[in-house]
Amino acid sequence: MTTTTDATTGFNPTSNEHPSTMTTTIDATTRLDATTNEHPATMSVLGYASPGVKAPLGPFRFDRRESRPDDVVIDILYCGICHSDVHHVRGDWGTDTYPMVPGHEIVGRVTSVGKDVTRFKVGEHAGVGCLVDSCGHCAACKRGMEQSCERGATLTYNDVDRHDGMRMFGGYSERIVVTEKFALKIPDGIDLAGAAPLLCAGITTWSPLRHWHAGEGSNVAVVGLGGLGHMALKFARALGSHVTLLTHSPGKEDDARRLGAHDVVLTGDAKQMAALAGRFDLIIDTVPYVHDLNPYVNSLALDGTLVIVGFLGKTEPPLNTAPLVMGRKSVAGSNIGGLAETQEMLDFCAAHGIASDVEVIPMRGVNDAYERMLKSDVKYRFVIDLATLDDDA
Ligand code: NAP
Ligand code: ZN
Repeated sequence: MTTTTDATTGFNPTSNEHPSTMTTTIDATTRLDATTNEHPATMSVLGYASPGVKAPLGPFRFDRRESRPDDVVIDILYCGICHSDVHHVRGDWGTDTYPMVPGHEIVGRVTSVGKDVTRFKVGEHAGVGCLVDSCGHCAACKRGMEQSCERGATLTYNDVDRHDGMRMFGGYSERIVVTEKFALKIPDGIDLAGAAPLLCAGITTWSPLRHWHAGEGSNVAVVGLGGLGHMALKFARALGSHVTLLTHSPGKEDDARRLGAHDVVLTGDAKQMAALAGRFDLIIDTVPYVHDLNPYVNSLALDGTLVIVGFLGKTEPPLNTAPLVMGRKSVAGSNIGGLAETQEMLDFCAAHGIASDVEVIPMRGVNDAYERMLKSDVKYRFVIDLATLDDDA
């Protein structure tokens, strides 16, 4: 299968082409179906794509596979905008393939199920997060850590299907086809738009809070009040911790307290930061860009752990190991969470009345939302209403 598209500007929604001198040809190199020896049957799906690095997103038609026996087909109702979508579209990680349909915070309604599906029925609400497949056999998969699959988990977008080689496109689209094992049950009673960000922002903060035992008697700090940060505040508070927000933005204090923080400290205020020395058992650091970790390590208590979930790359300035050695402190990282853990988090949210605080936007608002995200101007997750996708096409 070959897709021809323009690499610099938006698309014509019907032809997917744009008069331009720069044209990229994408070869999706699909494999033949092992039983029929034919290319996989496909369905045409409308989405919103970025045609190239830092290029604005626009309407884009693409193929998804038709349902396999263990697949569910989900008509997408809402999709959250994660800062990872912005990183991908801007080429921050250098691993990106275009055209790219981002989106891995997906909630929708099941519209059909394959003959082997047992957990979902047509009409139920289902969610899809950052993963859509993994090997299922390695040590990580066996531990329920599919996100760390030793053979590489299949990501919801910017990846290829491990069975048929088709390119994966994300949730800024009409519908998605996913193996039922990688679909999550959305419990009744959760606001559906507010549930979408739980599939990434929720599980990414829930997993380290649980792994490092946040709860009664623990002192937890959250760095950055955005999509991940606001979920971390809600979860840490609901788990019984004493919660502090560390923010670089003056003016977020009232919201932070409403979302669960007991204390709020401005990271730009060196005096306030120094006063936190030895305070926290656990810090969840959601900042997307390179930043100085040393003040956060200084604010860890004996045996405390700083968990990086935001920035990927080399630390700058260098990390001073002396406080780590002297205080048996750790700097760690954490990557989303496994499927069972994600379902546990969704069920916890339903039981505790927790959902994301969202600003619901039409599909055409996505490029502005990206700009606002880069300015830390998010309250506290943009969520796309996919019912508006037709209007734009
Ligand atoms: P977001 O909504 O944009 O929030 C990031 C927050 O970081 C901002 O609101 C801001 O909070 C703070 N910040 C500090 N310095 C900043 C700067 N120079 N520019 C922008 N923000 C700055 O992002 P998000 O969706 O929560 O994602 C945060 C990071 O986590 C991203 O890098 C994303 O790729 C990553 N992520 C990781 C995983 C994982 O599995 N590890 C999963 C999802 C996302 P204040 O204004 O309060 O300082
Ligand atoms: Zn994400």
